[in-house]
Amino acid sequence: MKTLRSYIRGNWHEAKSGFAPLVDPSTEETIAQASSEGIDFGAVLDYAREKGGPALRAMTFVQRAALLKDMSKVLRDNRDELLAISARNTGTTTPDGSFDVDGASGTLAYYFAIGKTLGERAFLTEGEGVQLAKTEGFYGRHILVPRNGVAVHINAFNFPAWGFAEKAACALLAGMPVITKPATATSMVTERAIELIVEAGFLPEGALQLIIGSTGDLLDRLGPQDVLAFTGSADTARTLRSRSNLMAANTRVNVEADSLNAAVLAPDVADGSPTFGLFVKDVVREMTQKTGQKCTAVRRILVPRDRVDAVQEALVAKLSNVVVGNPQDPSVRMGPVATAQQLKDTVEGIQELTQGAKIVHGTGKRTDGVGAPEGKGYFVQPTLLRADDARKAGPVNQREVFASVATLLPYDGSAGDAADIVALGGGTLVTSAYTDDAGWAGDFVTRGGGETGRIYIGSEGSIGDAPGSGAALPQTLHGGPGRAGGGEELGGLVGVKLYLQRVAVQGSKSLVDGLVGAA
Ligand code: NAP
Repeated sequence: MKTLRSYIRGNWHEAKSGFAPLVDPSTEETIAQASSEGIDFGAVLDYAREKGGPALRAMTFVQRAALLKDMSKVLRDNRDELLAISARNTGTTTPDGSFDVDGASGTLAYYFAIGKTLGERAFLTEGEGVQLAKTEGFYGRHILVPRNGVAVHINAFNFPAWGFAEKAACALLAGMPVITKPATATSMVTERAIELIVEAGFLPEGALQLIIGSTGDLLDRLGPQDVLAFTGSADTARTLRSRSNLMAANTRVNVEADSLNAAVLAPDVADGSPTFGLFVKDVVREMTQKTGQKCTAVRRILVPRDRVDAVQEALVAKLSNVVVGNPQDPSVRMGPVATAQQLKDTVEGIQELTQGAKIVHGTGKRTDGVGAPEGKGYFVQPTLLRADDARKAGPVNQREVFASVATLLPYDGSAGDAADIVALGGGTLVTSAYTDDAGWAGDFVTRGGGETGRIYIGSEGSIGDAPGSGAALPQTLHGGPGRAGGGEELGGLVGVKLYLQRVAVQGSKSLVDGLVGAA
């Protein structure tokens, strides 16, 4: 059995004990083991501080961007191997695995592209300068310089490649060394991706370290110049961000957490119209892609009250065709959930949702999967529920079931009612609205915009181009208020700025201009 290794202080570390098993979720066969025992986390941090940080900060943005280009190429060149590992360790079909693996190489390539436009500079300028006195003798300008610490990245189990890459791209471009930790249960893809990157030999020493397994006392050692970027459940986020050393030092913490994303059908969209077809297709994709294990997946489907029956019928017709099973079988369209814990949580979660809604498709129980041994595998059919009163649906607006599970909720057709119901989720990563009526859309955005990080509008004009609301594209913001964690990732330079310190530089205009020009 394979023992996964951490990459620390320029070497591969293999633990001797304390192992957690990694399992093929389609067969329940143990395929690897992981542990971080024996790692001196203080020394790992020192290595990043003493080697990686200075090396990266000595480079310009253009030079650091070139590292991302090389990382992207390594992942692209080894795509097939990474997809095979993903299928085995996370139960993904090829399209689902590519959403993660190609998403990783694509995001790195995007940050290369914007990085090379930032110039041979050590810091960035922001906005225009401003005269601060009667004359140009006193003038101010904002600049952004790399923070002097270490970026610690903790990722969720569902995106072992993209999760690592989207955070590392921003931190490395900014000039901060990275210590990355994937979720243990699905860490095989991340381990291999980083092994390939390290073997390629272009990263400066200490720029990238990998922890497989627990983080030990690493987080206790973080200080004022460090950044902790976390993706995972709201519960873990609460524990991590309330650590006393992080609060005392005001360590920068970014959280990407749960989200009860909603898709809203506007009243102008007639049954059978192209926009209605897009809505149904998108909702089914968002429910089933990666077996619903996406933070951006649709969990609540808001439909004008008199249209719920028609929408239910259209969704059930499509969901009934989804073949669930082992992704090694070519007929399979949706794989298992990733772990035994996820299966338990899914079954319990659906049971909880039935306090406020009833199941209209699926069983809410484990099922056997096509191409998998009888009685084995973490399979659940796509599950659609329906509530008669969105405001009395209780857990539907509170409980994230991280699987192929969503609930139909009626609303009165007004943008205000839709926005109010969406808000019951306490803050989302993405809200989608399907409409060809710009007036309705404007009203909805005005009323509901504050509750979400991204509004995706599906319309006749976007058919054929729009990738679906679940795709977190690097050009636009990923993150959301409240329950979604309050974080901001990607969004072009927005994500990079997490790792940069904004400094107001004041002095005579000629000196400030000269200093900025020479940067
Ligand atoms: P999780 O249980 O919260 O774990 C997330 C990560 O935190 C894992 O790497 C885990 O490591 C680590 N962790 C847990 N306790 C820790 C501690 N005390 N100290 C340091 N690290 C700790 O979440 P998950 O089950 O992996 O992921 C599913 C959740 O992530 C869902 O709720 C989903 O909505 C959310 N998610 C959000 C986004 C987003 O961008 N907003 C994206 C993807 C997923 P171990 O595996 O070793 O325990």
